[in-house]
Amino acid sequence: MTKPTGSDLRPPRSLSNVANCLEDHGYEAWAVGGAVRDHLLGLERGDWDLATNARPDQVMELFSRTVPLGMEHGTVGVLDPDGTLFEVTTFRRDVETDGRHAVVEFADSIDEDLARRDFTINAIAWRERTGELRDPWNGRADLAAGILRAVGDAAARFAEDYLRVFRGLRFAGAYDLTFDPPTREALEAAVSGLDRLSAERVREELVKVLAAPTPSAALRLYRDSGALGVWYPELERHANDAGWDEALATIDELNARDGLLRLCRLLLVIPTEQHDESSEDPGESAAAGLLARLKFSKADQRRVLHLYSHFLPFVSPVDSSADLREWLSSIGPGTERDLFRMHFAAARAAGAEDELNALVFVWRRVHEERLSGAPIERGDLVVNGTDILDLGIEPGPLVRLLLEELHARVLEDPELNTREVLLQQARELIEMAGLEGPASDPEAE
Ligand code: ATP
Ligand code: MG
Repeated sequence: MTKPTGSDLRPPRSLSNVANCLEDHGYEAWAVGGAVRDHLLGLERGDWDLATNARPDQVMELFSRTVPLGMEHGTVGVLDPDGTLFEVTTFRRDVETDGRHAVVEFADSIDEDLARRDFTINAIAWRERTGELRDPWNGRADLAAGILRAVGDAAARFAEDYLRVFRGLRFAGAYDLTFDPPTREALEAAVSGLDRLSAERVREELVKVLAAPTPSAALRLYRDSGALGVWYPELERHANDAGWDEALATIDELNARDGLLRLCRLLLVIPTEQHDESSEDPGESAAAGLLARLKFSKADQRRVLHLYSHFLPFVSPVDSSADLREWLSSIGPGTERDLFRMHFAAARAAGAEDELNALVFVWRRVHEERLSGAPIERGDLVVNGTDILDLGIEPGPLVRLLLEELHARVLEDPELNTREVLLQQARELIEMAGLEGPASDPEAE
C-alpha cells in the first residue's frame, strides 16, 4: 500500500463550505475520525466529522441551521443547504473516566483532541485550509501495515471506556487488521470489564458490526476474545465450531441492509427447539432474553423472534400447493420473503447448488400461491365469528375452534371458500359435536 497523503482527500463540497466558514472566522476546522480513516483507505463515505477550536455557542452563531446534538460533549450539528448534517465538535480532553463514559472539557489544540481518541487509525486529522494531515500517533503507518494499535497506553485506554474493546474488535474485523501485541493483550484483559457498559452502547456496536459488508471477521473476534461470553452468553453456550462457522458464513451472505435478518441468523446459533428437557434454555426464550437484555426496540424484538421461531420447518419442492398455503398461513403475512432470504443465504454460504435450485423452484410456487389470491390468512375466510354465532352456538372458545377447522379445510381446498359451503360445513360440525343451542337441540324434541 502506498502511503496516502492529505492531498488524496476529497471531501464533499458542502463539508468544505462548513470548514471554510469556520476558517474565515479565524477558527481551525479539522476533518477527523472514520471518514478520514476510510478515505485514506480509498473507501468513499458521506458522514464527515469536523473538530474545531470554536466553542459550541460560537459554532451555533456562525451557521444559520444548526442542531444541538450533544452540547455537553461539544457537538453541534450543522446542516448544509442540501440538508446534509455535519457534526462539528469542539476539541476535547478527558478529565475523568469511569469505564463507561468520559467527562470531557474543551481543549485548545487538535493534538490534545487526537490524544483522547481510541486507536491510532482513528486519530488522524486533516485541515483542508492548509492541506495539513496531523497524525501524531502514526495512524497512517498502522493503516498501511494493517495494524490496530491503541493510542498511548492500551490498558489505560480500555479501562477509560470499555466500549473500545468492542470497537477494537469491530475495526480489526472490518479492516482485516492485526492487533499490535500489547493492544491485543490489554484488550483481552479488559474483556472482564465489559459488563460495566450500558446495554444501549453494546447494542449499537453490534448493529454496526452487522451493518458492515462482511461481519464474520468481527464476530469471530467477539468469540475468540471472550467478549461474546460476557454480553451474549446464550450464543457462547450454544456455539460449537461448525454451527458458528455456518452462522457467520450465512450472515456474510445476507444483505448488509437486512441487519435484522443477520441478527436473527446469529440468534439461530441457539437451537430453535428445546433439544434437551433439562435445559433451562429453550431456544425462543433464550433468544428473547438476549434481545431484551440488549434493549432492542419492541418492534425489532418481535420481528426477529417471529423470524427465529418460523425459520423451521421450511417448505420443500415435494410439498403440495396445500402444504405451501398452510405454511404461508402458519408464518403470517409479510414473512415469506425474509425467510426465503435467510434460506437462500444459507444455501449460498454452503455452496449448495442443488439446494439453491430447489429454493428457486419453491419460491416461484410460493409466490404464485400468494398471487393467485387463494385464501391464506384466517381473515381471508368469507365467514367470521358472527356468522358462526348466528348458527345458534354459545359464544366461547368453540367459535374459534370451528373457524380454525374451516380455515384448515379452505387451505386444503380454496374452492370451499363460499358462504354457502362454509356455513353448511359449520352446521354439520356443530351437529356432529352435539353443540346446537337449546332451540335446535334434537334431543329436546
Ligand atoms: P464508524 O463511523 O465507521 O463506526 P468512526 O471511527 O467514525 O467509525 P465514530 O463512533 O463515528 O467512529 O466516532 C468518530 C471518532 O471519534 C472515532 O474515529 C474516534 O476517533 C473517536 N471515538 C469514537 N468513540 C470513541 C471512544 N469510545 N473512545 C475514544 N474515541 C472514540
Ligand atoms: Mg463515524
